[in-house]
Amino acid sequence: MGANLNDLTSDCVHCGFCLPACPTYALSGDENDSPRGRIHLMRQVITGQADLDTAVAEHVDSCLGCLSCVSACPSGVQYDRIIEEFRPQIEQTYAEPRGDRLFRRLVFALFPHPLRLRIAALGAVAYRRTGGAALVRSSGLLRRFPRLGAMEALMPPTTVRKAWRSQPAHNPARGERRRTVGLIAGCVQRVFFGDVNAATVRVLQAEGCDVEIPAQGCCGALSLHAGREDEAKRYARRMIDAFERAGEDRDGGGNALDAIVVNVAGCGSTLKEYGTLLADDPAYAERAAAFAARVRDVSEVLTDLEPVAERHPVPARVAYHDACHLAHGQGVRAQPRALLAGVPDLKILEPAEAAFCCGSAGIHNLVRPAAAEQLGRRKAERIRATDPDLVATGNPGCLLQIQRYLDEGPESSAGPEGSGAAQAAGSPKESVPVVHPIEIIDASIRGLRLNPRRIRR
Ligand code: SF4
Ligand code: SF4
Repeated sequence: MGANLNDLTSDCVHCGFCLPACPTYALSGDENDSPRGRIHLMRQVITGQADLDTAVAEHVDSCLGCLSCVSACPSGVQYDRIIEEFRPQIEQTYAEPRGDRLFRRLVFALFPHPLRLRIAALGAVAYRRTGGAALVRSSGLLRRFPRLGAMEALMPPTTVRKAWRSQPAHNPARGERRRTVGLIAGCVQRVFFGDVNAATVRVLQAEGCDVEIPAQGCCGALSLHAGREDEAKRYARRMIDAFERAGEDRDGGGNALDAIVVNVAGCGSTLKEYGTLLADDPAYAERAAAFAARVRDVSEVLTDLEPVAERHPVPARVAYHDACHLAHGQGVRAQPRALLAGVPDLKILEPAEAAFCCGSAGIHNLVRPAAAEQLGRRKAERIRATDPDLVATGNPGCLLQIQRYLDEGPESSAGPEGSGAAQAAGSPKESVPVVHPIEIIDASIRGLRLNPRRIRR
């Protein structure tokens, strides 16, 4: 992406302030699994003092990309850029074991392709309804192949109707139009979390926004975070083309969209980076920078607007979880809380270790299920200790991961640090539903009774 890895890594002064913020270091206690240790290893490789062997690749690849270290670093080390610059070297030069390679291929042949995901959703519905799930679970197959087990456990519940439903392309503002925005539909989001997109559109309309949803593909976030830079660039170019066309359809000039709205934290942080990603592409550099400058998380757009839609009470205790790519990646922490604080009778709870990753981390919980499980249980314990009715988080991966470990209940949540927090909280509820914050705002505007048991996915 044009950055100089040598310069970027030399910014690190080895102070170690980032160590307590790093979840992988907290789990292993090995300095090589910390930001400082990984920067040291990468620097050794790029300066020719070490080879990119299995051990180095393993330490670097086990990084969640959660960016907690970026928030913690007082010297402004751009670890996010360092890891994105270095990962393609692992992808190109390090020969992964065959099983790992095949599994990653499967993930990248499926997840960035909404049509394939929709077909897979049909399979998932059949799997659950025909007794296939019970058969596979009792066969022991999922224990033998933990990655398949993780995939099965994280498979979002859906219906055929929900998976194949699409939002209309044009969604006019209710009342006076105050903004015209384009919406990023997301890949997993549009297929498995269409309710979140529908809620996003309704809230934006209620707040006076025309919402355009152009035909679009993947934003490239998964590819970029996994070191597949060329693939990410291809997706980014197509996304820019799609939104420029949508703008031209509105005013003939391509600039009619005041903002490009995203409700998935992982996608948002990549979309905001398009200017850097395509800086070396003469045909796209300027357009990518203009596109990135207009990208806003839905909570940013809504807090910029003076609310006009009445909020009705939602009497509930909601634990807010900061998705890493929203809090650390985009610095968006206050806006979702401010939005939720505008809902009468809603109490916002702040779990301990808010800055820690839940273990989802893109596809990390699929390719490294053991580490993700420890982090998932740890996160569920901290959340359960606040005794919430609901959990809110702005990323579908976090939503599935947290829901999975909350559903396990406190008894089986004996994570690496024991279950003290869970015991302190007791076991007040069977489980707690996890939602996107925009679903709470939508329910409040529509005056719906938000019954936690009813909204379980
Ligand atoms: S990354 Fe930042 S916080 Fe961590 S050791 Fe280097 S300078 Fe210190
Ligand atoms: S991105 Fe997260 S897991 Fe990776 S080094 Fe930084 S804090 Fe640790």
